Amino acid sequence: MGASMGSPVTTGKNLCIGCGLCAALCPERALSMAWNRYGEYSPAEADPCTTGCGLCAKVCPFAGSGENEDTLGERLYGAIPGIRHRPETGYYLASYVGYSEEHRQRSASGGVATWILERLLSEGIVDRVICVAPTGDPERIFAFRIFESPEEVRTGAGSAYYPVELSGVIREVLAVPGRYAVTGLPCFIKAIRLAQQQNKKLRERVAVTLGLVCGQLKSRRFTEYAAALAGVRGEVVGVRYRGKSPDQPASNFYFSFATRDGEEHKIFWREGIGEAWGNRWFTPKACNYCDDVFAECADATCMDAWLPEYVEDSRGTSLVLVRSPLVREALKEGIALAPIPVERLIQSQAGVVAVKREHLAYRLHLNGERAPEKRVVPARPKNPILRQEIAAKDRMQEFSREFEGCWADFRAAMGPDLARLAALRAIRVPVRALQSLRGGRRG
Ligand SMILES: Cc1cc2nc3c(=O)[nH]c(=O)nc-3n(C[C@H](O)[C@H](O)[C@H](O)COP(=O)(O)OP(=O)(O)OC[C@H]3O[C@@H](n4cnc5c(N)ncnc54)[C@H](O)[C@@H]3O)c2cc1C
Repeated sequence: MGASMGSPVTTGKNLCIGCGLCAALCPERALSMAWNRYGEYSPAEADPCTTGCGLCAKVCPFAGSGENEDTLGERLYGAIPGIRHRPETGYYLASYVGYSEEHRQRSASGGVATWILERLLSEGIVDRVICVAPTGDPERIFAFRIFESPEEVRTGAGSAYYPVELSGVIREVLAVPGRYAVTGLPCFIKAIRLAQQQNKKLRERVAVTLGLVCGQLKSRRFTEYAAALAGVRGEVVGVRYRGKSPDQPASNFYFSFATRDGEEHKIFWREGIGEAWGNRWFTPKACNYCDDVFAECADATCMDAWLPEYVEDSRGTSLVLVRSPLVREALKEGIALAPIPVERLIQSQAGVVAVKREHLAYRLHLNGERAPEKRVVPARPKNPILRQEIAAKDRMQEFSREFEGCWADFRAAMGPDLARLAALRAIRVPVRALQSLRGGRRG
């Protein structure tokens, strides 16, 4: 589609997350998803757009569709008996903690997401499951796939901190009748919901959406950087991002890389991966403007139990927030889940909530008209330490996206901002202690 016709490439204020819904729904097939120079997916014009119907912009989760997670969520779940709502989580019916003993070792946390997907298939609630699985292709290590058996679904267990896009599988949903379940990060589920508003077949066929809590996405360059850090020399054909070691807490998982020449390399979260993650290196720009922590438009959302009583167990534990009665019913038997107050789920994601509220408010304040419309009110944090932390991370994020040099020089180039952050952290602790003594709050 031509830029003048209003393609999401331009209407999304350059905030494309690469979900692929625009390409999937384009009636002219004018868009196709391709890698951009940042190692992210974005829509490229395969053929010139002749109609300018604007459907691409209407389904873009970052373009101004006039809808947000509150309006979509209310229409989806607002009338369900017993439903409750919190600004942090959106709507919810129930919240649980637990795991599937059979799945947790290969899964990201407690294996509840894979268990749910398998259950939906085996109970005949859906005919097909769309989830992310390894491809063995070094150019596209993970992709969305459509599976018809629980055994196939199990091959997708684990988290893919790697770009994936939905255009191919959504086109298949449009072509092949049936009931589908789909997994996705918050913005991907939002895009599916926007697409369902525009397309009857998607409305009828996508029967269950399973969200994942998301702090941020990563470009494929994140995986390349992590592989270099792990000492990988050959071509990477497979990655496992959530390896579990019995002698480590769940939070110190490892990435393992399989190369074409049969080598295996491992690197733990605390050996530099956490630094790249927490400092937002290789994070797409769109993530800076996300205000959805808990995938508010999904029928259920799974996340890691980042809570003190679960984090020491290397095998991993899941938390689940349920919005649809259908999923709540499916969870009633066959798995060890216990109710847990929703406040604990919010507590488990405190860092992500801060980024998608306080940090976002500051970015909106700084960018004024140039920023997209969000549910968060623009505000300048009172705390100067927080302002400097956000600025340092934004600088590093920008630098890492643009970086084209040799990995050996990469981290050194971040040195000044890393030093600044360390200094800020050192003063933050006494400042917080002082504030709590005075009964003040973190700004
Ligand atoms: C980019 C990213 C950021 C995340 N950030 C957080 C966070 O900040 N806090 C938190 O608690 N949890 C986060 N998660 C979710 C977490 O990593 C686990 O996916 C979640 O706890 C479910 O674990 P599980 O053991 O129940 O799922 P599993 O049994 O491992 O199943 C996970 C399912 O999700 C699918 N999947 C994996 N990657 C993707 C993807 N990129 N897009 C769509 N589907 C996918 C898999 O195919 C599989 O079906 C994030 C996940 C991703 C991919």
